[in-house]
Amino acid sequence: MSCTMLRWLLRGGCRPLVGLWALLLPVVSSHGLQQDALTEGRPKLLLVSFDGFRWDYVDRVPMPNFFSIMNDGVMVKQVENIYITKTFPNHYTLVTGLYAETHGIVANEMFDPVLNRSFSIETETMYDPQWWEEAVPLWVSIQKAGGRSGAAMWPGSDVKIRGVFPNQFLRYNASVPFETRVERIIQWFSAPKEEAVDFGVLYWEDPDKSGHLLGPQSLLMDAVIAGIDEKLGFLMNELKKAGIYEKVNLIVTSDHGMVQLSPDHIIELDEYVSRDLYTWVDKSPVVGILPKEGKLDEVYSKLVDANPNMMVYKKESIPAHFHYQHNSRIMPILLEAKEGWTIMQNRSGTFLLGNHGNDNTLPSMHPVFIARGPAFRQNYVKSFMRSVDLYPLMCHILSIPALPNNGSLSNVKDLLLREPTPTVPSARLRVKDNSYAPLVGSLMGVAMVLGFLVVFIKQVTLKQLPSLKHRRREMSQPLLQDLHL
Ligand SMILES: [Zn+2]
Repeated sequence: MSCTMLRWLLRGGCRPLVGLWALLLPVVSSHGLQQDALTEGRPKLLLVSFDGFRWDYVDRVPMPNFFSIMNDGVMVKQVENIYITKTFPNHYTLVTGLYAETHGIVANEMFDPVLNRSFSIETETMYDPQWWEEAVPLWVSIQKAGGRSGAAMWPGSDVKIRGVFPNQFLRYNASVPFETRVERIIQWFSAPKEEAVDFGVLYWEDPDKSGHLLGPQSLLMDAVIAGIDEKLGFLMNELKKAGIYEKVNLIVTSDHGMVQLSPDHIIELDEYVSRDLYTWVDKSPVVGILPKEGKLDEVYSKLVDANPNMMVYKKESIPAHFHYQHNSRIMPILLEAKEGWTIMQNRSGTFLLGNHGNDNTLPSMHPVFIARGPAFRQNYVKSFMRSVDLYPLMCHILSIPALPNNGSLSNVKDLLLREPTPTVPSARLRVKDNSYAPLVGSLMGVAMVLGFLVVFIKQVTLKQLPSLKHRRREMSQPLLQDLHL
């Protein structure tokens, strides 16, 4: 599906369709369906992110627990994440299957000229739902489908998105130990049937935190990486102790990699352009530049050839393969340092020995990916996937319909033990209740949806005749093709 169409679906023009989807879900999930699927057979899935765990860290020190999962399940060698390769944009992609320009979390620090507000992951601004509601994360979808979710500190999971929190969640607090987060996740998965979660997300700050401070090449990182393997071992043991290790599908991945920086490789913007001419948004190595009114061309001309180690893009010329252009939160000028370089205004700012954010095709920016459980093949190594493909894969495993997304289940179906059948996933749910009430309810629901659809199509056709002309090529594509994969 094209990005433009996805954006149209998920932002302005999509609202009626999202509404339609929300109407459809109760039809497929009510009337005893959810009882059947949830309490008897709905698959369980736990998604774990060790922030900043670069794909090749597993080969650096002995990692018995990581290798146990690989042998027992699947591993993907190269996972191409999304641009920019920062924490919040990528964590939101993992649970939506969307590029940043579409899900709206385009950076860790943002300015929205439409809302005239700023966002920072370090302030309370990140709890404003408006930043998050250009997309619908998987924990919201599964709850709307009648399932339950639990979230231990995953970015965005303690924000009320579309009026919904996860059924169980922890408000973000970096001082809560990994072991405590795991204990809560285990409690949620092993609760009585009616309360047990079906989908869980678990987040841990390392090795990102250490990678920034030490730099990935530091020998001290060896102990940090070995420590992550121990943490994974703790999680596996707790799942085993609770008797759910064989039942829960476990995916262990990350948001991005990490690259070594040097104090000899610093680009100082003050050398090229006055601070009076622009506002700095976000942090190195990808920096949004918001020129003061009327100063766009002046700022651009001062920067464009300023330093051979810095790429300078006007928004409209950002390379298409980044899928990073069509959102008002992306600034008029974008700077990207070459791998290993840092952009600062001058050297008085904070310098990090390791960082990430660069071009998502660089191997140094890629995260680890391993998974095991009843849905996955065993001892299988895949060479490449895109992180946007994880969302349709997870929806398939959880037996819920995927919302429109940038990924494709067909790209990653070889990870699965059983080949997906080409049907709508929700069709796998069975009606358990023998009364006619569910059938009547379903028919009424379908009638309502069809009525809604007729009105909707009529309105869209009338209102958007001129713009449809321009969208015809995109409109001719199957909008919900991923639902059928
Ligand atoms: Zn991160």
